[in-house]
Amino acid sequence: MKNFKMPIKSNLKSRISTINNAFAISIIPYVPPQEEVLEEYYNELKIEPKQCGYCLTKGAKTVDHIFPVVKDGLPFGYLTDINNLIPCCKDCNSKKGGKLFKDWYKSKENIKRLKELKLNETTINERYNIISDYIKKHEKQYDFEKIIGKEKWDEFVRRKNKMTELLEDNQKFCDELNEIIWNYIIGSNAN
Ligand SMILES: [Zn+2]
Repeated sequence: MKNFKMPIKSNLKSRISTINNAFAISIIPYVPPQEEVLEEYYNELKIEPKQCGYCLTKGAKTVDHIFPVVKDGLPFGYLTDINNLIPCCKDCNSKKGGKLFKDWYKSKENIKRLKELKLNETTINERYNIISDYIKKHEKQYDFEKIIGKEKWDEFVRRKNKMTELLEDNQKFCDELNEIIWNYIIGSNAN
């Protein structure tokens, strides 16, 4: 359909991963940085405020978690804090996705992409080393299961899975109703 844009068809099932993510994110501490640490932070990463830490584009609109806070649907043990955040352009953010920095940054596709953005080999290696050093110095992964105890952790997982099942089950029921309504409409238009 070239000349007409339909609205996005939203349903419960398409929300499952969003809700799963929100479930995980809800238990993860969110810590805005103290003003005093920012100068050192930008010095260490050798970027200006709002400059993408990965490709050096200025006016970066997003912030990336260096280590993803959610992995395989569960909290990964990293926080939303300055030790784990880097200003990031939209393109780098979506290309990195849930990958680990060390697996992603010097991958073939990413090097190709960075070169298209006019970063040369030396700059790419420099960026890689600067961010790797930052990670070495600041990385901190917590064992949330240990902190909250196995019983509460298991309950967390159980509740999350139950939410998914509930959404799937309700989706099935709604699909049934949708079909009845659609059949009615086709039938009444046939008369
Ligand atoms: Zn970028």
